[in-house]
Amino acid sequence: MLEFPKTGTGWKDIREEMDRLIEDDIDWRAGRSPLYIFHANDDVAAVGKAAFEKFFHENALGAKRAFHSLRKMEADVVEMGLDLFSGPAGASGFMTSGGSESIFLAVKTARDHFRACKSVAGAQNMVVPESAHPAFDKAGDVMDIAVRRIPLRADFRADTDDMAAAVDAETMLLVGSAPCFPHGLIDPISELAAISERTGTWLHVDACVGGYLAPFVKLLGHDLPDFDFAIDGVDSISADLHKFGFCPKPASTVFFRDAEAMERSKFDSSGWANGRFVTSTLVGTRPGGSVAGAWAVLRYLGREGYLSLAAEMMNLTKQYVEGIEAIDGVKMLTSPDLTILNFTTEKKDIFSVADGLAARGWLPGLIRKPKGIHMMLSMLHSDAISDYLRDLKHAVETATATDTSGRSASY
Ligand SMILES: *Cc1c(COP(=O)(O)O)cnc(C)c1O
Repeated sequence: MLEFPKTGTGWKDIREEMDRLIEDDIDWRAGRSPLYIFHANDDVAAVGKAAFEKFFHENALGAKRAFHSLRKMEADVVEMGLDLFSGPAGASGFMTSGGSESIFLAVKTARDHFRACKSVAGAQNMVVPESAHPAFDKAGDVMDIAVRRIPLRADFRADTDDMAAAVDAETMLLVGSAPCFPHGLIDPISELAAISERTGTWLHVDACVGGYLAPFVKLLGHDLPDFDFAIDGVDSISADLHKFGFCPKPASTVFFRDAEAMERSKFDSSGWANGRFVTSTLVGTRPGGSVAGAWAVLRYLGREGYLSLAAEMMNLTKQYVEGIEAIDGVKMLTSPDLTILNFTTEKKDIFSVADGLAARGWLPGLIRKPKGIHMMLSMLHSDAISDYLRDLKHAVETATATDTSGRSASY
């Protein structure tokens, strides 16, 4: 057991120790991690980092009273997001620490809205596609809301008929993803909106992973379904800045069609000796750097910057898909809407292929249903493509036909 250090250590020694620790990490800079890190290019990263550092010490908890700079920047980030997601007049939102917090707050808002508007006794539930992020289960666990996960259609999108059938008087929330993390596909949000309008159930669109990418891919002319506030029944949207928004972590946004309903996201308490304490977010202290970093990166790139990155990434995705399909015995499981792809093998066990990739220094992303390898591509993966395809081919050739690893897909 490490004891709490009796004396201090010099920064030089600390830094050297960190350098040694990092040697065991996955070489993400060389494109060897298909998840966790999103990268546009070094310029964007440098702007985000410099802006973050400029506001390294400030605390966004004090944005209203002490740091007017942060209040202004957060309001700007929200307005830019609402513009991107067709926010109608009266829509609003705020920044959070990530997708999980954005989802938690959307669930809380929908629940409190339900309780205020409908006098239904008994336990509430939410109806979500099987592919929805576990953050909904986490929110359900904390807030005692049952989660009804509904199996997907054969094309891996939300089965809206079965979801409609699962809605009852205690259902306070319907969820669709744009796209979902596992299959990278956008759910039929307008069909969900029709159910939401017919039953009066809150509809949340989880655009955490692709929210800041999909609008640009659509502008490029790709055939993507609508998913944002342009669809009448959409009540709230979560979209992570720290994923394909390429902003420094931790940063996400959550938006609400109706600013009055959004009031219910707030936690307002006055039992404390200091007096009233009101926060929109689950967390109290928030890094000022996250707000400044997002504000800077959104403005640095602008629509043009995001559009050209989207074009580069879609082109890269096409190259990966073609390269993967060219390997004997490998087949794509989906035709990607954005840059998330899944593939499997016909004769070999795909998790055995994953082990072969891991042996050559790649972190394989896994998916269980259907069993496959999962990748989320950004510009980090550009230079790595030929090495990856070479090693994948080798891993397929040397893989076993059955899964001997007993591994489970976990993060
Ligand atoms: C990443 C992700 C989340 C959770 O976001 P965190 O920032 O990791 O908390 C939620 N939904 C989807 C679809 C995601 O991809």
